[in-house]
Amino acid sequence: MKIGFIGLGNMGLPMAKNLLAAGHDVVGFDAGEPAIIAAKEAGLKMATSVTKAAQGAQAVITMLPNGAISKTVSIEVFAALEKGSILLDCSTIDVESAQEIHASAEAVDILCLDAPVSGGIGGAAAGTLTFMVGGTDQAFEQGKPLFEIMGGKIVHCGKGGDGQAVKICNNMQLAISMTGACEAFLLGEKLGLNPEKLFDVMSTSSGSCWAINSYCPVPNVGPTSPADNEYKAGFTTAMIVKDTSLAQQAANNCGAPIPLGKHAGELYQEMMDAGLGDMDFSGMINFLRTHKSNS
Ligand code: NAD
Repeated sequence: MKIGFIGLGNMGLPMAKNLLAAGHDVVGFDAGEPAIIAAKEAGLKMATSVTKAAQGAQAVITMLPNGAISKTVSIEVFAALEKGSILLDCSTIDVESAQEIHASAEAVDILCLDAPVSGGIGGAAAGTLTFMVGGTDQAFEQGKPLFEIMGGKIVHCGKGGDGQAVKICNNMQLAISMTGACEAFLLGEKLGLNPEKLFDVMSTSSGSCWAINSYCPVPNVGPTSPADNEYKAGFTTAMIVKDTSLAQQAANNCGAPIPLGKHAGELYQEMMDAGLGDMDFSGMINFLRTHKSNS
């Protein structure tokens, strides 16, 4: 299949390399010089515009920073694609922009899926990403073989925009539960508890959750996590700030009360403002210890 791939950054390049390795004819485009150089070094054919990457392609995949850019790029993609071909937008963007992209695609008889991912750069390289997909059944069936090359788990979440919606619900809950895990271990520390004993109980009790069981924010406790590697990301604080602000935006639009999601987002924003945007988000425990009082 001829595939146009737009946005060959940290995530896009390894995803495109997996498509290439599976035998597809991939033509890339990126607006940034470093990404162009890295893509050429990886053996990808590079076009000089979005239009040129999309022309003649049966599928175009985008992996871009935000909704405004995805919308602009999608307009150019739709003008270049033949009817019946498909756009897979794997970027994490706001629900409204995703819905607008779906509406524009439908107007010109092009299939479309919003398909944000989880799994990070490691998952992109290993081809084990989870894809959360929104769009029609027909579009899902057409896009699925490509997701299967780049991912390990593919979930058709519902209509257009629902992939993005699922992603922000999950990541808002992650921000809340990680903050809760950090607070619990910090309280235990101040109470003089052995963190391993606390882990032993919490990881098998009603407080258990992924943030504790699989990604414990305390060094040398539980399975290996960024806490064991000086909080090197992992999943950066900047990324959780992006996702919680997308959740807040969606909640404002649909009128959902998310007081804890809002608060967790504000705490992560403070952490980022303190210059810790590149630190793993489980570093919240150190931020609380050093920057917050209990009043
Ligand atoms: P990145 O900044 O490394 O890559 C984005 C690329 O898009 C860059 O190479 C940039 O030059 C390019 N770009 C920007 N505007 C463009 C345009 N108009 N036309 C063509 N190219 C353009 O970001 P990333 O880490 O690869 O993330 C991409 C998306 O995936 C984001 O939406 C992010 O939220 C999401 N995501 C990232 C991770 C992660 O671990 N990095 C995990 C899950 C989801």
